Amino acid sequence: RRQLSEGEHPGVTLFRQYLRIRTVQPEPKYDEAVLFLEKIAKDLGLECQKVEVAPGRVVTILTWQGTDPSLRSLVLNSHTDVVPVFEEHWNHDPFEAFKDTQGNIYARGAQDMKCVGIQYLEAVRRLKAEGKCFPRTIHLTFVPDEETGGHQGMELFVKRPEFQALRAGFALDEGLASPTETFTVFYSERSPWWLHVTSSGN
Ligand SMILES: [Zn+2]
Repeated sequence: RRQLSEGEHPGVTLFRQYLRIRTVQPEPKYDEAVLFLEKIAKDLGLECQKVEVAPGRVVTILTWQGTDPSLRSLVLNSHTDVVPVFEEHWNHDPFEAFKDTQGNIYARGAQDMKCVGIQYLEAVRRLKAEGKCFPRTIHLTFVPDEETGGHQGMELFVKRPEFQALRAGFALDEGLASPTETFTVFYSERSPWWLHVTSSGN
């Protein structure tokens, strides 16, 4: 069922279209997401590259070339899959992207993290429309399988020559929602520090 989108910001309409694609674990409809992204790439005049890192697991890369190819690129990453739902606990179908009169949009993936993927795209759309261009190339990477550990997604992609060819200098990815006006940023510098703690209970 389609919601009326008359008078709606095109970015919001696009967001809701993306939310309706059932990229839900454990059998995400990735093909539909890839087609959706390819169409957007065409609309925005971005290059589109697909890298199948495992059977049925495609990383989609949308590229906006910078003016100085000697510089390393900016990578705007997001994952296309979402965690499962217990539909009986939802007030609205989690894949309908219902928008209430206050403007709240209900969907699995609305926060984690289809919002971010669309924000990247809309930011690029606006900047391009304003005639902006930047020295650094910007790559928007859309990866499968993050919610199951990325073993069939980013973990394989970073070992691929296509990833090396991006010449990534800096990357953004998801944060967390905040109930206040303070926003969460995960920060990391030099090399990330992962500490494993084993607790035996009692
Ligand atoms: Zn996420």
